[in-house]
Amino acid sequence: MDIWQEMQQALDELAAADLLRQPAVLDCAAGARVTIGGCQFVCLCSNDYLSLANDPEVKAAAVGAIEKWGVGSGASRLLSGTMQPHAELERKLAEFKGTEAAIVTSTGWMANHAAVHALVGPGDVILIDKLSHASILDAARSSGAQMRTYAHRETKRLTKLLETRRKAHRRCLIVTDSLFSMDGDLAPLGELTEIKERFDAMLLIDEAHATGVLGRCGRGAAELLGVEEEIDATVGTLSKAIGALGGFVVGPAVLIETIRNRSRAFVYTTAPPPAICAAGTKALEIIQSQPQRRQRVLKLAGELRQQLQTAGFDTRDSQSQIVPAVIGSPGQALEASRRLLESGFFVPAIRPPTVPRGTSRLRLSVCAKHDPADLQRLVQTLGQIHRDMETPHKAAQGTV
Ligand code: PMP
Repeated sequence: MDIWQEMQQALDELAAADLLRQPAVLDCAAGARVTIGGCQFVCLCSNDYLSLANDPEVKAAAVGAIEKWGVGSGASRLLSGTMQPHAELERKLAEFKGTEAAIVTSTGWMANHAAVHALVGPGDVILIDKLSHASILDAARSSGAQMRTYAHRETKRLTKLLETRRKAHRRCLIVTDSLFSMDGDLAPLGELTEIKERFDAMLLIDEAHATGVLGRCGRGAAELLGVEEEIDATVGTLSKAIGALGGFVVGPAVLIETIRNRSRAFVYTTAPPPAICAAGTKALEIIQSQPQRRQRVLKLAGELRQQLQTAGFDTRDSQSQIVPAVIGSPGQALEASRRLLESGFFVPAIRPPTVPRGTSRLRLSVCAKHDPADLQRLVQTLGQIHRDMETPHKAAQGTV
């Protein structure tokens, strides 16, 4: 068999297991409503939580920056790719997060690589919540440090690992998402800060989904849980609530300087476009001056979660704008997604390996511009889908 045939067979196998992925192509900008193939849908799968990706002020900042600074940055950050908008965004991020310094990378994925590789290497150990983002797991694997995962939010398990492994290693790093992307729940940051003190470890958190949304000032889960001072370093992304693209690391100046000098994900890639940085800076200003955006998202999400639970859905321990509705098998999740699409809701099915086997789901993400009436209709549609799935024979006969 030649290699292309072998690849095709692997794809065919994915399709047969309901695991093949094919993105829809949007005919419009990101938003609470989108059009696909000329039809309008309520979009519940975007991470543009504060509806800033297509905000007039954010767009104006980007357009103005394109006029002044052009499109591409032309080089890596350490050559001629660092322009005033990059420096301004880094100043703004450090001010916003209340840290000594900040550094911007081309994506959030790269920010996790940059941070992890700066903090640990061969001879060290890194302990990660099992449901943390793929970029953290991959960064750990390629860091040279010994890597272990602990069961989701299981601080007892983490403590056990530390008791057996900590002494054999020079540095020890604990890493976790602060707000988990597929379950919408929070890491036990209070406990983690105590554990890291006890075992002389460092704590790195990924606030990708929490930045802009959680906490009174929108700084994230660490602000919400009152532990910002205890966190050693934080990763975030500009691509979700901030509505742009790129990643960042905030923390002590010495860490940021180390990333600037040593992290391959920062050094060996072209700088993000200056207009993206200008958009990010404007979005951060809006996040600081318009708390009503995050308050609205969390209120809408709270109501949605409550209603889904009443309708019988497992929403895990969601406490945020991310509300999972666990369905079960990939095939059932695909079917639920297809029925939602028929009713005007765009919610792709989330399947393994993104989530553990048996927990394929609809991941509903709420944004500031969602209309409560749309969410009400969504709950009714999902309620019907849930009832039909519980009585599949009747659904097959078309009687329910
Ligand atoms: N961390 C988490 C928790 C994420 O969910 C993501 C993206 N989904 C990233 C990091 C990567 O960020 P980016 O998309 O900016 O590369």
